[in-house]
Amino acid sequence: MSEKIKGIAASAGIAIAKTFILKNPDLSFERSTVSDKEAEKKKLNDALEVSKKELTSIKETAERELGKDKAEVFAAHLMFLSDPEFVGQITSKIDDDSLSAEAALDDVSSFFIQMFESMKDNDYMRERAADVRDVSKRLLAHLLGVSFTSPASITEETVIIAEDLTPSDTAQLNRKYVKGFATDIGGRTSHSAIMSRSMEIPAVVGTKTVMAQAKEGQLAIIDGLNGQVILDPSEEEVAAYKAKQAAYKEQQAEWKKLVSEPTKTADDAHVILGANIGNPGDVEGVVNNGGEAVGLYRTEFLYMGRDKLPTEDEQFDAYKEVLEKMANKPVVIRTLDIGGDKKLSYLPLPEEMNPFLGFRAIRLCLERQDIFRTQLRALLRASAYGKLRIMFPMIATIDEFRQAKAILLEEKEKLVAAGTNVSDDLQVGMMMEIPAAAVLADRFAKEADFFSIGTNDLIQYTMAADRMNEHVSYLYQPCNPSILRLVSNIIDAAHKEGHWAGMCGEMAGDATAIPLLLALGLDEFSMSATSILPARSQLLKLSKEELAKHKEAFLNLDTAEEVLDYVKTKMI
Ligand code: PEP
Ligand code: MG
Repeated sequence: MSEKIKGIAASAGIAIAKTFILKNPDLSFERSTVSDKEAEKKKLNDALEVSKKELTSIKETAERELGKDKAEVFAAHLMFLSDPEFVGQITSKIDDDSLSAEAALDDVSSFFIQMFESMKDNDYMRERAADVRDVSKRLLAHLLGVSFTSPASITEETVIIAEDLTPSDTAQLNRKYVKGFATDIGGRTSHSAIMSRSMEIPAVVGTKTVMAQAKEGQLAIIDGLNGQVILDPSEEEVAAYKAKQAAYKEQQAEWKKLVSEPTKTADDAHVILGANIGNPGDVEGVVNNGGEAVGLYRTEFLYMGRDKLPTEDEQFDAYKEVLEKMANKPVVIRTLDIGGDKKLSYLPLPEEMNPFLGFRAIRLCLERQDIFRTQLRALLRASAYGKLRIMFPMIATIDEFRQAKAILLEEKEKLVAAGTNVSDDLQVGMMMEIPAAAVLADRFAKEADFFSIGTNDLIQYTMAADRMNEHVSYLYQPCNPSILRLVSNIIDAAHKEGHWAGMCGEMAGDATAIPLLLALGLDEFSMSATSILPARSQLLKLSKEELAKHKEAFLNLDTAEEVLDYVKTKMI
């Protein structure tokens, strides 16, 4: 009998393959002493050898499939396993204190981690702490005989089953082999879901139980269209899903016919359909799906899946590549938005009670100006190669925007004085994702050149409902009148100052929200590349002028349900 598990449809499409279960290993152990020290040292050596073999193979695969950059971190891990200082100290603890290999490793790795982390002024050394932590985890897993897997090691067609995928796990996925994934936690706007859409991997998240129910290597269907996972499907189910897969491909072929068409509505109004990307490699998908802009480049992914900060030149290359590939179409690049659910192993931040309300994004960049200025210089240098718009994330106050813009202008002046070419058509805008800014949009519109509405965060902050928490997902209501009024306020404020307003939150690609946003006058809709053609096809059938007549009515409804009902009966 097959087992069906409901979840949230995170990325469209259907995948059928064997499961690969990505577990967080249980690495707890009792501290103990040993009498046979030689046996303990042999155990250590065996674990070292297995870890090295494993890392060498992962490194080779990563180099081949993902490029040298992403493989660097594994080279650093290998170096540690051969470091006489590190290994020698573990052996001495076994010899001198009769500690078990696990306890000896724990002591030595804690010592190294602390030492590296205390070198406050030396980024390179601090980054080594993350390496020690990672490599020690692998070694400890082997000492304990617990299996340890990395998504980068997958080299067969599979669907991944996991409790959650961190953004850096997702960054390591190889789309050639990973056909789909399903997780216990997360929602449509968690970053693993967003990444899966930009990588065009079918995904179902927030199932709560898939980890407990799935077995390694069994056949599974991931239905990213309806949010369902089927374990051990019957032959009939496989056949039915293969037919669905084919029908979806056919529908995609229909949409593809619109790839070079302009985006216009039935009454000939024009809006821009842009795409959200995480990596320069995603631009190919934007172009293939007829994107007219990059409405959001989440640069934080450039900082992930590696073991140190990207240099100015590395960043310059990435930004230039995106601008050139977009061939003078607008590209909105957002400055670093780290924190919340996006962490960097080499940039340890203090543990926080509420990371989504914490030290993140522009707050961190204004304090770590070394990181911020490096990124701004790379952006300014790249601006000469296309139509760049720079955007600051998580702006709550006018003062933050002014500070960020002043730093940008300072860097610009320095570059220009040094003879570097910087575009003179540079717009500087901001994400509208904090209610305080949304309410004060009229004032912000006097300072910023454009707004891009980040509904993923704007909804979570307005409704006080964590976007990652499936228990409060019922409060995550894009069409609640409170959200629509904020969106309307933001768009009107931008227009009043002669600016454009876009939306790069997931709401922009939602077929039910699109008529409402068109009615409110949104100028640019930025979404996963795969949503562009379905949106273009939908817009062709809608009249902006007719829809605008409904604006007052739907803004004055009481509930999200009433709005949804209104759209379905009167606006589509
Ligand atoms: C948003 O908050 O809507 C957004 C686009 O940014 P992110 O999802 O990266 O937080
Ligand atoms: Mg956001």
